[in-house]
Amino acid sequence: MSTFVLATANAHKADEMRRALESFDVKLLPRPREVPDVDESETTLEGNALLKARALTNVTREAAIADDTGLFIDALDGRPGVHSARYAGESASYEDNVQLALRELDDVDDVDRSARFRTVIAVTYPTGEAWWVDGVLEGAILKAPKGKGGFGYDPIFAPLAHGGRSLAELTPDEKNAISHRGIALRAFAEKLSSS
Ligand code: IMP
Repeated sequence: MSTFVLATANAHKADEMRRALESFDVKLLPRPREVPDVDESETTLEGNALLKARALTNVTREAAIADDTGLFIDALDGRPGVHSARYAGESASYEDNVQLALRELDDVDDVDRSARFRTVIAVTYPTGEAWWVDGVLEGAILKAPKGKGGFGYDPIFAPLAHGGRSLAELTPDEKNAISHRGIALRAFAEKLSSS
């Protein structure tokens, strides 16, 4: 049985991770309360995911798993990217971030609103060994929010495969089947089973 400490304190993400790994002989430990938050100072998702995982491995001496996600909008030169959580400021709400993205794209035509979500999942071991996998979801930014599900930028992101529906209009199963996080989790599980 392999044991991993999870960097995320987000119950929803931890649950997704547990479900993705159900069929593996893997034990997931919650992040110990005494481990402080890591300053996400790197300029890439993989840099920040590795930073978060390594910090946990250093304290616990256990293997650790961390993830990092960003929304990359082509017309904004890839913004908000690694800054997706704090796009509209340190204490920005999901709604603040969504409204800022829409304002910045105000005069951008439908054909130029392409964007992608990317999730990186990083794993570190006490030996110093480390690896990461990623998942990408291509789509476009809508002109106005639609739908009540999901979180974050879901109401303004229309994945290519769903004919203009936003991620917030999909069921959780529909979203997981195509999402950046779902793809990264499946890649993670596959890599674990082959190593
Ligand atoms: P994190 O690295 O998973 O915390 O993601 C950073 C930010 O990206 C979050 O605060 C959300 O605003 C956004 N985000 C991450 N995943 C998703 C998603 O699946 N849908 C919409 N927004 C997301």
